[in-house]
Amino acid sequence: MNGEERPSVIRKSADLVKDEWASLIEKRGKISEAVVLEVTNGCSAGECSHCYLFAKKGGGEEMSSDLAFSILNGLSQAENKPAEIWITGGEPGIYPSLPEVAERASGLGFSVLVVTNGEPFEKMDLIEKVAPFVDGMAVTLRSFSPFAHQLMMGGIPSDLLEEAKKHWQRNPFDPPEEMVQEMKTAGVSIERFFTIDHHGRSMQALRNLQEYNEAVLREGGKAVRIELNHDVFNCRADEGGHGELYRMLRGLKREEGIEIDNVYLQILSVSGRAIESLEDQLPQIAWLTPSTETIIAYLKDQKDCIKERLIKGETVWVDPIPQAILNQLEAQGIGTKEIPGYQPEATPAFDVKGNLRDNVLYLA
Ligand code: SF4
Repeated sequence: MNGEERPSVIRKSADLVKDEWASLIEKRGKISEAVVLEVTNGCSAGECSHCYLFAKKGGGEEMSSDLAFSILNGLSQAENKPAEIWITGGEPGIYPSLPEVAERASGLGFSVLVVTNGEPFEKMDLIEKVAPFVDGMAVTLRSFSPFAHQLMMGGIPSDLLEEAKKHWQRNPFDPPEEMVQEMKTAGVSIERFFTIDHHGRSMQALRNLQEYNEAVLREGGKAVRIELNHDVFNCRADEGGHGELYRMLRGLKREEGIEIDNVYLQILSVSGRAIESLEDQLPQIAWLTPSTETIIAYLKDQKDCIKERLIKGETVWVDPIPQAILNQLEAQGIGTKEIPGYQPEATPAFDVKGNLRDNVLYLA
C-alpha cells in the first residue's frame, strides 16, 4: 500500500503505540531490533528518482513533536521494545524538532541513528545540537565524484541530463573536465550544471562530523559513529582495478582525514527488476538491475578497504542481491558469505502521521 492511501492518525497515545507494537511483533513472530521514525516526508534534495518515499523537495508533511514523543514513550514501555530508533525522512535534518526528538529517544534508553543525505548538517550548529543525543549518523554519499553524486541526487538541470548521463557512462569518476569543455562550447555555465551543490553540502557535513568527533574526544566525550549510505551502481574499475567504494573510502580517509565507521551498500536503490514484489509495490520507480560485474567490483573493493584499513567497522550489504547474480557468482567460484546483510523488510516504520507499518518499503 502506498503511504498516501493510509489514514491520517496525527495523534496517538503511548498506550496505543505500546499495543500496536506488541501486535506487530506477535504477527511477525520475531523481535525487531530497530524501528524507523519518518519525521518528515520533505527533503532538502527531493529529486532522487529512486526515493521510495517520493520525498517532496523543500517542506513536506512533518510529524508533530507530540506524536513523536508519544511513539517513543509507547515503544519504551513495550514488551520486546526495539533497541534502536532510526530517525529518517525524507530528510530528518530539515525537521525542526530533530534535536528534541533525538534527545527524548536517547533519554529513554534507545540507541539513536540519524539517516541523512547530509545537506542540512553542512551547518556545524545543527550537528552540535543533534550529535550529543545520537550514537550514529548515516550520511549518504553516492560517489566521491561530485559529478556522479549530483547525477544521482537529481542536481543536474533536465536539459543537460542526457548529455550528463552519456558523460557518466564514459567517464564516471574523473572530474568532468571533458563535460565542462562541452558545456563551455555550448554556452552553458558550470554554475548551471551544479544547480545545487549536493555533493559539496554532504561532504561538508562529513567534515563537520569528523571535526565534532575530534573535539569531543579531546574532552573525553563520546564520538558519533560516522556511517555512509552508498548506492551500489555501475562503475568502471580504474587502472589499479579499484571501483567506487575503494575510491570513496580512500578519498575520505586520505584526502579528507574522515574516519568512516560503517558503510551501508544499498542495492535496491539501483536495482530491483529481479524483485517483482518491489516493482509491483513501487511501480513509479525506474529500477535498474545491478550486474554481476558491479557486485564483483564492490566485493573486491570491500576486501581492499579492510586490508588497507580505510574503514573502521564493516560493510553492510543492504537488500537482497537478485538470485540470478548469486548464481553467477557461485558459478565463478566467488563466495557469497560476505554479502548477506541487512534487509529493510526486517524493519517496521512509523510514517509522519504515526501509522505503523510492517516494513520500511511498504511491502505488506
Ligand atoms: S535524499 Fe533521500 S529522502 Fe531525499 S529525495 Fe533522495 S532518497 Fe529521497
